[in-house]
Amino acid sequence: MFMGKRILLVEDEPSMSMTLTDRLHSEGYAVEIAEDGETAFQRGMTKYFDLIILDLMLPRKSGLDVCRDLRQNGKMTPILMLTAMDKLVDRIVGLKIGADDYLVKPFEISELLARIEAVVRRAPAPLLLPIEQYHFSNIQIDFRRAEVKRAGATVEFSAREFHLLRYLIEHRETVLSREELLQKVWRHSALQLTRTVDVHIASLRQKLEANPRYPQFILTVHGMGYKFIG
Ligand code: CA
Repeated sequence: MFMGKRILLVEDEPSMSMTLTDRLHSEGYAVEIAEDGETAFQRGMTKYFDLIILDLMLPRKSGLDVCRDLRQNGKMTPILMLTAMDKLVDRIVGLKIGADDYLVKPFEISELLARIEAVVRRAPAPLLLPIEQYHFSNIQIDFRRAEVKRAGATVEFSAREFHLLRYLIEHRETVLSREELLQKVWRHSALQLTRTVDVHIASLRQKLEANPRYPQFILTVHGMGYKFIG
């Protein structure tokens, strides 16, 4: 069930990250390692992961800052924080700024695996600090009111179009396959065809792009899917 789920492991202690990586691989997870906070933030913003395991004490940028910055930039990837025993305050702050769960070091690896399964299964993550507004070009989006304005004028969106737009923005600069979009935006409705995604993308372009035939924001990545930049 968790085969192929992608985990970004952010941990600066090599022995720890090696042990965890070995074990996660044997459970079927695909693991990528970042050894400092700045790298973690960049990867978290630009690539797709099902989960980020985030150590708090990191070089260059703390785990708390990584978590906060990902959330403030609209990245809702589930985050499981690893904290030291005596850092109760960090744990509370971590949950407040949008982490999904935390685990206190030292921990049993079986406990970590159980938490990972729970967080991954719970997708989408609870939006503790949801993206509220976003703008690009002459487009202004208010996510709380589900409202889109183009040059100040309201544009009508279906719920599905809005959900798709939100997903694209939350994963901006990331290539999203039609299959992923179907799964995440249409939610397991197996009868939907990948063509459905194309139709909705075309509709979003009509509503948001200056010239829908030559999109500047909702791009086609040939052979792979779509990517939002903006
Ligand atoms: Ca550390």
